[in-house]
Order: sequence, then structure tokens, then C-alpha cells
Amino acid sequence: GASSESYQQRNEITVSGKDVPMPMTSFEAIGLPSEILRELLQAGFPAPTPIQAQSWPIALQNRDIVAIAKTGSGKTLGYLIPAFMHLKRVRKNPQLGPTVLVLSPTRELATQIQDEAVKFGRSARISCTCLYGGAPKGPQLRDLSRGVDIVVATPGRLNDILEMRRVSLSQVSYLVLDEADRMLDMGFEPQIRKIVKEVPARRQTLMYTATWPKEVRKIAADLLVNPVQVNIGNVNE
Ligand code: ADP
Ligand code: MG
Repeated sequence: GASSESYQQRNEITVSGKDVPMPMTSFEAIGLPSEILRELLQAGFPAPTPIQAQSWPIALQNRDIVAIAKTGSGKTLGYLIPAFMHLKRVRKNPQLGPTVLVLSPTRELATQIQDEAVKFGRSARISCTCLYGGAPKGPQLRDLSRGVDIVVATPGRLNDILEMRRVSLSQVSYLVLDEADRMLDMGFEPQIRKIVKEVPARRQTLMYTATWPKEVRKIAADLLVNPVQVNIGNVNE
């Protein structure tokens, strides 16, 4: 309707793809489990950010997404909230491996994502662990063997653990590539491609990036299926 269109205009949201749903401009519109809704309200968040409002309804249709939005726009909950909803529907036995996999370029960023997943997912009994280099593998392997719903990982450490055969990605059905441009700048493309080979082709894939250069377009074309593209604000290419 007109008010949704002006929400998109006011917030400089542009989308491309077939039959893209209108933004969900309130937390109540999503049909969240009540315990997660309560966490969002308790955090003092007044409403979804534009990237959240636009990417939630698309992700909830099980569609692939490329989202291009600058740092600080709330991308983490942009993909975590639909991940929680996905887990409610298709949660597997976490002992067999994670259902949700998030790839992130650095230890610092991966830890921030894990903190957000724990903060907002704990009351719904969603478990999450974080795998990154420069730290002993022991505790990470212990968490994996206990079983977790969500793994947040840097590509290098996840590949090491895959080579040790201490994690299986055969249950992953929701894959996120966060800060894709930065992961490629850091030279992680070969590791990302190796990891994605271990994830079943029947999955939902979401890619979040701050910029949209041709290397990122190429990997998006290879790993995503008919993605809806969401841009917030002016994107430099
Ligand atoms: P990005 O990944 O786009 O850089 P983040 O996901 O790290 O952004 O979010 C930036 C900050 O905004 C975080 O502190 C996060 O908790 C906060 N935030 C997320 N969603 C909302 C919201 N709907 N309203 C207010 N603050 C939010
Ligand atoms: Mg981020």
C-alpha cells in the first residue's frame, strides 16, 4: 500500500526481484515467538531498522537475499531473527550438526554475532557457538560435540575443524555470508567455496555486504538462487 511505499522511500530502500513483499515495520507483524519479542522490547528497540523491516518478510518466504547496507544498520538481527524462525520450523537434532551457519570475516565480528544470538535466542532455547582462529580448539570442539543450533565461524577455523571431521554441515539449511565483501578482501574465497560444498544445495542462503563490487556479485551468482536484492541508501560500487 501507499504507506509501505513511502516507508521504502523515506528509508531509501530499493529492492529487485519478483513479487517482493512489503517491509514489516513493527516487531509484532512478524509473528515472533513471544519470548523473542520480549527480548527485543526489553532491549529498548523501538522498531525494526530498515534493513530488518525489508529483509525479514523476504527471508520468511524462504528466499535467498543479497542485502547491501552500511555498517551499523542492524544487519545481524536482519538475518538472526529469520534464522530463529527457521529453527522453530526445521530444528534438527543439534547433535548431528548445526542447522544455521553464519560465516564472518574476523574473530571480533564473529563474537559480536554470537553475543547477539545468545542475547536474543537464549529464552527460546536456541544454542550458538563461535569458531575462530587464534584460540585453542579444545573448547570449540567441546561445544560442537555437545551440539548447537547455530555456528558462527571464521572461514579459516571452520575449514580446519572440517578437515579434522569434528563438525558436519550436512544439516545446515540456513547459510549466512556476513560482511561478504570483507571476507573476499581478506582472501577467504577458496575457504568459503570449500565450506559451501559441504552444505546441502537445498538451503536458504543470505549474503550481507557493505559494498557490491564485481567479485562479490560473482560469488553471489554462484552461491545464491534467484536472490532478492535489497539496498539501503546509496551504494558505491
Ligand atoms: P551492522 O551489522 O549492520 O553493522 P549491527 O547488526 O551490528 O549492524 O547493529 C548495530 C547496533 O544496532 C547493534 O548494537 C544492535 O544491537 C543495534 N540494533 C539492532 N537492531 C536494532 C533495532 N531494531 N533498533 C535499535 N537498535 C538496533
Ligand atoms: Mg554486521
